[in-house]
Amino acid sequence: MVLKLMCPKCGRQVKKEEFLGKICRVCFEEQNPEPMTLKISSIPLCTNCGKIYGHKWLPRKQTWDVIKSNIKFSQDNLYVISYTLKDIIMSGRQGVQVNIRYYYKHGGKKIVKTFSKALFLKTTTCPVCGKIKGNYHEAIIQIRYEGKEEPKGVWTLIEQTIRPYEEENTIAIQDKGYLKTGGYDLNITLKTIANTIVKNLRNAFQPEYKISHRLVGFDMPASKKKYKTTYMLRFKPKQEAESL
Ligand SMILES: [Zn+2]
Ligand SMILES: [Zn+2]
Repeated sequence: MVLKLMCPKCGRQVKKEEFLGKICRVCFEEQNPEPMTLKISSIPLCTNCGKIYGHKWLPRKQTWDVIKSNIKFSQDNLYVISYTLKDIIMSGRQGVQVNIRYYYKHGGKKIVKTFSKALFLKTTTCPVCGKIKGNYHEAIIQIRYEGKEEPKGVWTLIEQTIRPYEEENTIAIQDKGYLKTGGYDLNITLKTIANTIVKNLRNAFQPEYKISHRLVGFDMPASKKKYKTTYMLRFKPKQEAESL
């Protein structure tokens, strides 16, 4: 004989294992229709580099991390079993459909559910791409040498150094301007790229080296002074010979 009990809410006779706490599963699910919600209804997407925004700009493949960090759950315990993400078009706009299979425990019972939501991808431009479009540069590298002949290998090494950045669609060099004699200036988008170029050139050629910083403004949100860095590298013909 199967033991049935009366649900105090709906009055039905229900098997004991169909109870969740003091009421039946049907009543429980009416009271707790969907314990899971998302704090966001859209995810910003940079149309230039394809990155998305969570707490910071991230590669598109981290979409789940962004969604996961925005889950709101009304119960104490949440166990995600699996999830799927699918690119969709929502009223002509790009979007992503997320399905999350999860369970939580209530009154000693395991409740398995699936949550589904479609999120817009809100197209925008990330700060890095915004800077790039504005011909922004954080650093200048001054290449100097004797006479009109460029030291062999310097430009080749610069090109090799920036290739990985350009493969990720970051423009490394905004501008290359030649002097009348003995050198050229490079406007470099990001300081980190400039540092890498300078480090590689110094290791390979040991040029005379000077660094200077010029105050260009004040970053209010970070309350930090903003500097433009100039690196001067002077190559001597004999140093060049040593490295070859
Ligand atoms: Zn009931
Ligand atoms: Zn971008």
